Amino acid sequence: MFLFIPADNFFLLLSVAWSSVCRRRHEGECHLTCFVSGSHELVHETRSHTRSSGEEEGKIGKGKQKAENGGRDSEQQQASKNKKAKVEGENRDGNGEPASDVAAEFEEFCKTTRLHLSINEMRRILEANEQDPSGSEDAVVPRCQDMMFYGRLEQCPVCHNQMDCSGSNYQCRGAYSEWSTCIYTTTDAPRIDRPVKIPEWIGDETVKEWIKKKASRRYPRRKLTSSNKPFAGLMISLSGRLSRTHQAWREKIEKHGGKVSNNIIGANCLVVSPAERERGGSSRVGEAMETNIPVVSENWLIDSIQKQQAQPLDAYDVVSDIVPEGRGIPWEKMDPNEEALESLTAELKLYGKRGVYKDSMLQEQGGFIFGKDGILYNCAFSLCDQGRGINEYCILQLIQVPEKNVHLYYKKGRVGDDPKADERVEEWNNEDDALKEFVRLFKEVTGNEFETWERENKFQKMHLKFYPIDMDDGIDVRHGGLSVRQLGVAAAHCKLEPLVANFMKVLCSQEIYRYAMMEMGYDSPDLPMGMVTDRHLRRCEEELLKFREDLKKAPDSSDEGDALWLDFANKWFTLMHSVRPFILKNFHELADHVAAGLECIRDINVASRLVGDMTGATIDDPLSDRYGRLGCSVAPLDKESDDHKMILKYLDTTYEPIEVGGVTYGISVENIFAVESGAGPSYEEVKKLPNKSLLWCGTRSSNLIRHLQKGLLPSVCHIPAPGYMFGKAIVCSDASAEAARYGFTAVDRPDGFLLLAVVSLGEQITEMSTAPDDAKELEEEKVSVKGLGRKKPDESQHFKWADDVKVPCGRLVASEHNSDRPLEYNEYAVYDPKQVCMRFVVAVKYEEQNEVVMAVE
Ligand SMILES: [Zn+2]
Repeated sequence: MFLFIPADNFFLLLSVAWSSVCRRRHEGECHLTCFVSGSHELVHETRSHTRSSGEEEGKIGKGKQKAENGGRDSEQQQASKNKKAKVEGENRDGNGEPASDVAAEFEEFCKTTRLHLSINEMRRILEANEQDPSGSEDAVVPRCQDMMFYGRLEQCPVCHNQMDCSGSNYQCRGAYSEWSTCIYTTTDAPRIDRPVKIPEWIGDETVKEWIKKKASRRYPRRKLTSSNKPFAGLMISLSGRLSRTHQAWREKIEKHGGKVSNNIIGANCLVVSPAERERGGSSRVGEAMETNIPVVSENWLIDSIQKQQAQPLDAYDVVSDIVPEGRGIPWEKMDPNEEALESLTAELKLYGKRGVYKDSMLQEQGGFIFGKDGILYNCAFSLCDQGRGINEYCILQLIQVPEKNVHLYYKKGRVGDDPKADERVEEWNNEDDALKEFVRLFKEVTGNEFETWERENKFQKMHLKFYPIDMDDGIDVRHGGLSVRQLGVAAAHCKLEPLVANFMKVLCSQEIYRYAMMEMGYDSPDLPMGMVTDRHLRRCEEELLKFREDLKKAPDSSDEGDALWLDFANKWFTLMHSVRPFILKNFHELADHVAAGLECIRDINVASRLVGDMTGATIDDPLSDRYGRLGCSVAPLDKESDDHKMILKYLDTTYEPIEVGGVTYGISVENIFAVESGAGPSYEEVKKLPNKSLLWCGTRSSNLIRHLQKGLLPSVCHIPAPGYMFGKAIVCSDASAEAARYGFTAVDRPDGFLLLAVVSLGEQITEMSTAPDDAKELEEEKVSVKGLGRKKPDESQHFKWADDVKVPCGRLVASEHNSDRPLEYNEYAVYDPKQVCMRFVVAVKYEEQNEVVMAVE
């Protein structure tokens, strides 16, 4: 029999769901890369606290914590820890001897050297050959033996630092740049074809004899291979978007001895993204739960490969606490609304340059940030070096507590691992001593002088040292915006037109910003990424643009190319502190996580400045005040007006349902507002321009304040991926479906906004059906581009509206010659913001169109 469950009740745990940021919306596998593994553990932890009993919580928490921490180190690095790796020579070595003989000889040699050479002698031998003599006995012995028997190692081909033999592989020990530890490893390292030097004073006869014997022969080749197959005998099923494609995982799993099954039946486990549970779970998740097959996060695969051993499935379980008879509260008893929203993200602990870090507990005593000579003694730092498995933050504050001495607060820890953070509060009797200690700690943490940074903004990143997150004097909107409890009161005491008051209420609420930042992984509670200086944002943008240039010169696929991407990822996730950094690999990831992430953070910073602090009383009508600051008139359209009817028709004909996790969403219009922004060209100006169309623009709710206050901005740079392929342009579409995909935020958050703008496409339009390799020419010529999609609105239904504005309305039909176009819908790229004028904001609700069918016995 079948049980029908409306999809909105189906574990409506949290919503997050579908990344509307995702620009890969034109492809079937659209969301595979949009969430990185481990993306929602932070949320998960929060929920464990609210849902589970203490005992259970401890158990679950511990397991997950462990799972997460293991997931970060690089695979190569971990491979070195694989003690079971064995040596397998090539069939023949350089002297034509069978490999097995060489291996046996090496084993004999190792025994001999252990007996005849001291550790100190081994260190001196390494030194004599310009190899690193440092490290423990465990490191020095295999390094020295490998060198003496097989020859000296060449330098790392990527960063030209010293390679090292760990016993199971060869790894680089150097730094690729001040941002990155080099992660180059190999099992077959090139050697320097020169005899190894042995210092004269080492007089051991056995060693001397061996050297004599060796001198007449070439060094044999050594190739290390791992013999362990962590997934041997396992049948693994994959579901939903993971951090890499299913095909890539299939290859990896097979390489490590496992098999991938398309069915749940007979599988040992189902691997999903943690986002899966928040999205409500696909039918496959339901099936696995029904048949008691463990549903685990992708970290299980990553960790098992790294540790060369299948890890316990329990520690990686992502759904057990939402199974009706499981450990948590049954899903049908959950209230998906307020509680879910409030427990969504951990409370922001630092919200700007004047924010006293919450954990110091000094704010409760009236503490405030100590300032002297125009300097606020409050610094936040970030460090991401994925080659070393490091992603940390650090907070350094001087806090003045009334009627007490100045306190120094220091905290340094790994993202999301608060219990292990190094934290202290010290009261100082002498102010000067406290200042000195602050300066000393700044230097210790960053390798730079505090004064130079604070006064001249000069800073030189040092390898494995922190970089300052340049906080601004203001309040992160995640803290300053309206909280859930204030929303009703704020609107009730607002003298604005009620529909406008409601609109402002949404734009000033903390939630939309928390959501956006959580989706992008920039929601660290410890660092105020929503309140950084413009200088910091510019620095991020410059690094992105520089990387785009570097990529043009970079080798396509090689260790050097990989290192360049890794280095940028480290730089990026240091500057733009993330709770889930990862190694960027391709343009789609660059577009989704870096370019879109930067735009999102930039816009949220604008919102922070406009919203300010609304945490106090809402009776004095802060919404009207913020509306005034917006500098944009917002007026609801009469539902009987022609404009309203025209927009409904345009929306309806060019809409296609969005599909998320097997559920399709329709759209309904709540309200339409006519808007007129003080920024950008006025309608009167655009009206005079030629070739005008009314077009849809996608926006996230979190970006709307910026659009309304500052006008629409071109994309940050050219990336050959949807959304960025035409370079620095404002991109619109004639399909509301396109804009709706941006606007969609989450399964249980049905509200969204679509923008309509009048766009002058100029006298000339370039039509393109493929992505250009470079957008420089397009950007310079400023000729509008029409990117041809696989679908277009039926031209016979287009019509002209007021002031000769074309409305390309019409049912979506297939374009001619459309099969291999990268775009699903037509996109219009305009390079001059003066040609674009926002006219309407359409407030919509997304509604489910079908039901999830679950089989039960
Ligand atoms: Zn290297």
